[in-house]
Amino acid sequence: MSTRTALVTGASRGIGRACALALAADGHKVVLAARDVTKLEQAADEIRAAGGAAFVVAMDQASEDSIKQAFSQAAAAAGPVTILVNNAGITRDGLSMRMKRDDWQTVLDTNLTGAFICAQQAIPAMMKERWGRIINVSSVVGESGNPGQANYVASKAGLIGLTKSLAQELGSRNITVNAVTPGFIDTDMTAVLSEEVRQKMLAGIPLKRFGKPEDIAAAVRFLAGDDAAYITGAVLKVNGGMYM
Ligand code: NAP
Repeated sequence: MSTRTALVTGASRGIGRACALALAADGHKVVLAARDVTKLEQAADEIRAAGGAAFVVAMDQASEDSIKQAFSQAAAAAGPVTILVNNAGITRDGLSMRMKRDDWQTVLDTNLTGAFICAQQAIPAMMKERWGRIINVSSVVGESGNPGQANYVASKAGLIGLTKSLAQELGSRNITVNAVTPGFIDTDMTAVLSEEVRQKMLAGIPLKRFGKPEDIAAAVRFLAGDDAAYITGAVLKVNGGMYM
């Protein structure tokens, strides 16, 4: 396995943090990006303690300037980024009829536009290296839809469309672009749900458990590696069977 530089957005906790640890365990230099630099440093320290190479950059995915700055800092510190994990994401749930424009826009800006700008920032170096991996963390609800999450679902379905378009644009440059669609994963994002909702969801999961961040990280790690060289434009469901 070659050593490459991977940038993971939303690496301060949850799924992104697990992805950063998994990619570092594969020998990659990992750049951890998010807003909470203290938490990023804690994750980076964990990687370093295990013998890996980790770098921290502050990045607000809702801001184009911040993304650009983060990518130039990442390249200066760790070399050209050839693995991008677009993982950062937020929810602002509510029924469509009452949804505030701001809640719509903030979710689209962060989850979809931010991921697109990250890809735009990463592509030139990948083209130069004639090797690249872009992995977009979408969601099961981007495939199925979900009441009360029109903004989030639109952003996650948009990521799937973005994945397929980029895969077609970049295939000839040996850059693969894939999406992972997590099901219900135990993180801060889902910790806010009531016990009643959790039990209802659990009943619909054939594997009879919620996912762990490591379940998603394992798929991301695979897609980032040389064994996934002939996979592009794919949408890999990691959802315990809750949507097939
Ligand atoms: P989480 O625990 O809430 O973590 C979200 C991460 O995104 C944090 O590291 C956060 O970092 C970062 N982030 C949020 N807004 C950001 C911004 N404006 N700029 C930069 N970073 C930002 O969520 P998670 O469950 O790990 O989710 C990770 C991804 O998986 C998300 O895209 C989510 O939609 C997707 N997903 C999750 C589930 C699930 O069940 N948990 C299911 C399907 C898909 P800071 O706060 O430090 O900026």
